[in-house]
Parts: sequence; C-alpha cells; structure tokens
Amino acid sequence: MPGLVDCHTHLMEYATAEIHHTQGQAQEMAAISNLLTALQAGIVATGEHHLGHLVLSMPMAQYKKIRDMLPMASAIAYGCCWLGFEPKVLTSATWPGRSETRDTLTDRDYELMAEASEFPGENIFMNYTCANVPLAAAPNAGTVTYEESQLRHIIELFHKKGKKIGAHIEGDEAARRFLACGGDVIHHGHGISPETGAIMAKQKIPLVLTPAAGTSKRPTSPEEALAFYRQGIFLALASDSYIYPHPQADWISLPKDRLSGPADFLKVSGPVLRYFVENGVKKSDALRLITVNPRQLLHPEEGCAVLKPGCPADMILCSRLPAIETESLEDILLVITCGQIQVDRQI
Ligand SMILES: [Zn+2]
Repeated sequence: MPGLVDCHTHLMEYATAEIHHTQGQAQEMAAISNLLTALQAGIVATGEHHLGHLVLSMPMAQYKKIRDMLPMASAIAYGCCWLGFEPKVLTSATWPGRSETRDTLTDRDYELMAEASEFPGENIFMNYTCANVPLAAAPNAGTVTYEESQLRHIIELFHKKGKKIGAHIEGDEAARRFLACGGDVIHHGHGISPETGAIMAKQKIPLVLTPAAGTSKRPTSPEEALAFYRQGIFLALASDSYIYPHPQADWISLPKDRLSGPADFLKVSGPVLRYFVENGVKKSDALRLITVNPRQLLHPEEGCAVLKPGCPADMILCSRLPAIETESLEDILLVITCGQIQVDRQI
C-alpha cells in the first residue's frame, strides 16, 4: 500500500528540544533522528512546521537543506505562533530564537513565510495555543487572535505570492472568521460545529484532524470525524508530533503523561479509521486519510498515486492493514522510498 503520510508534525523544530534536549548544531542531528523514527514507522512523508522557537535559532533555509538529504518526501510550512501564556508570546519562523510579547510582524515577514512554505500548514494561529504546557500555564489558550481586517490582509499577502494559507484553529468563531476571509486549509479544527462543517464542504476547505491533541479543546472524536467525512469534507489525520495526548481524548489508548510521536501514529489514527470501517466505509477509503489524502495536501503536483516509471512509488509492505487491523509497527515489514528498501523488519 502507499506509504503513510503524517502531514502535521513538528519533528525538526519543537520536538528536537523536547525529545533530545538539543540546541545549536545538534538540533540537526535531533531532527534527523526524529524523521528516522517516522520512516521506521512506515511514514514516508511528513508535513513539517517551522514556527520560530523561543531558543532554537536554526535559520529557515537550513530545514530544507536537511530535508533534501533524506529519503523522505517531507514538505515544510513556515509560520508564526501565538502562545497563550501571560503575557502572550509571539514567535516567528522569520526570526527564530527569540520571542515578542506584542505583534511586531511586518508584511515582509508574512511574505517570507509564504515564499518559503511548501504547503498550507499552520502558517498562522487563529487561537492562542497551549502548545505542550498544562492548560493552567496558558490562561489565554483558545482565545481568538486575529481581527478580521488583519486576517484578510495576511491571507491576501499569501495569495499574492501564489500560495495557499493554512491555520491552527479551534472552535467555530475562529473557523468562521478564517473561512470568511478566504483561508484555505484548517488544521486541528477541534470543536467545529456541523454547520461550519457544511460551509467547509461547500468551499472545499480541507481539514487536517489531529485526534490525539493540538489545541486547548477536546480533539475531534471518531464520531465527529465520520460526520465531517459524510458531509464531504476532504480529511487527513495527523499526529501533531510530539505532543501530550489531550486529557479528554479518551478514545486514544496512549498514556497522557508521555509525549506521543510518529511511532504512535497508528495508535493516534486507529480509533478513527476503525470507527469509519465499522460504520460502512471501505477499508481502502479509510486508509486514504493517512496516505494519499495528506500526500495530496503536501504534494498536489504529484497527481494520483500510481505505480509507473517516474512516479514516487513510496510504499510499505504490511502483514496486516496498519491502523485498521494492527497498531504494531512489527506488522510494517518493508518501507520503500526513492526506489530503495529503507527499512526491512524481516532481517
Ligand atoms: Zn501543530
């Protein structure tokens, strides 16, 4: 089957410090280590997010240099991030390694993010985020960030550069504002109502669900995900690695006090995909949410997944269907990318 694709991850930036406690040049080693963990889990492409970091100061271009060395089809999105601490804190990919407590971003910052972004990831945060700190430490988490006029202006800056824009979104107010101002892709979308879902389906706005965590709100449940699917919304599932599973994500079997990462992708997506299959969705259609759908978001130019000369043919060989029939990585026997076997569990 096609290789797994996790289109919302932070493996090269935030997760390097969180998992490996690295800074400086060692960040590159940590980034590669995290991506290797993903590849071993059958993930042949990730959607990386570079949002700027309070400490890590690796320049924007370096992320692409590292990615280009690796046998994965990862894509990188650049953005800025509002953290819901008191005071609120802003970071930006355009000035990594520092933070501001007020909005100092210029049009040029947004233009640089747009120019460098390879897919519409969480380029902007429509809500202040709690990131990986306890909710009590981020009292502003969930509050909507951008007024309509500023949002419309930022979206226009992306569109003028010929780029789509994605956003970190929770709740109807933020989602409706983003849709009204011409936004293109919603990430997380926790707490979005069926009425807003209907608008998304009509406007053909893709939704990247992160069923384990990602915002201050309870993530989208398997039942709510199926309802969005039946509304006709283009869906992808992602891990948002590395992240602590949300306390209310009770369909996730992972421990809530341990950061979950790409090796847990099957456990993050399994409950949603099994619920889809139990309710009549074909297994091959359910699997699209962790393979060809996210790949299309990252690489729309590739067209559909076919086996023929010149096509990527990134695939995995499994003894049981991942996420639906098994959550064990032992069942992913081979991982093939770039015309080579990269991982072989049979030897
Ligand atoms: Zn994220």
